Amino acid sequence: MTRRFAEQQLVIASHNPGKVREIADLLFPFSVEVTPAPEFGLAEPEETGTTFAENAVLKAHAAMLACGLPALADDSGLAVEALDGRPGIHSARWAGEERDFTAAMARLEQELEGIPDNHARFVCALALAWPTKEGEGWAASETSPETVVFEGTVAGTLVFPPRGHKGFGYDPVFMPDGYDITFGEMTPETKHAISHRADAFAKLVAACFGEG
Ligand code: IMP
Repeated sequence: MTRRFAEQQLVIASHNPGKVREIADLLFPFSVEVTPAPEFGLAEPEETGTTFAENAVLKAHAAMLACGLPALADDSGLAVEALDGRPGIHSARWAGEERDFTAAMARLEQELEGIPDNHARFVCALALAWPTKEGEGWAASETSPETVVFEGTVAGTLVFPPRGHKGFGYDPVFMPDGYDITFGEMTPETKHAISHRADAFAKLVAACFGEG
């Protein structure tokens, strides 16, 4: 049985303002006080995992251990079929230190030149870690029941040139299946209803926040 979230405060283990905004929006109905990790002065841990889930757990644990509070982390990215899942867990890195997603989207277009398959999906792993007191400090383990991970996806196609200025990251080149506009052209409400983050979030809410 997954532990239910009964605390008042939750740290969002992310330095990405776009993600923090979306997670805060999604958590709004649950009256939880949400604090982004940078407000605690936390540095971003190195993402040494090989999967979205591993990196989400790593980030949630780093924030939980530093603050002694429950922490929620998102690791997400764009997986392009014709590129064998790239950029995948390296989605942010493709934009470089400057987080230049215009350049990252141009690289995608270049790598896909002459390739007819434009299928892609966004993937999101959400990890929620509760602090466990151990001696004077806090303990964390990937296998502990105090850490849970949920994964969500949304399938679509890539369109070039980029369209729309809402959202963040690769949103302007991603058109979800069943729509003729990109995530970059959608209102946040529409994106929240169908996104990979919303899908992972629905699983998290059902397990940890819903009526128990
Ligand atoms: P990380 O999870 O912080 O390592 O980075 C995830 C990266 O994936 C972001 O910086 C974006 O480039 C991309 N990404 C994840 N979710 C979305 C989304 O909802 N829209 C657009 N890009 C996203």
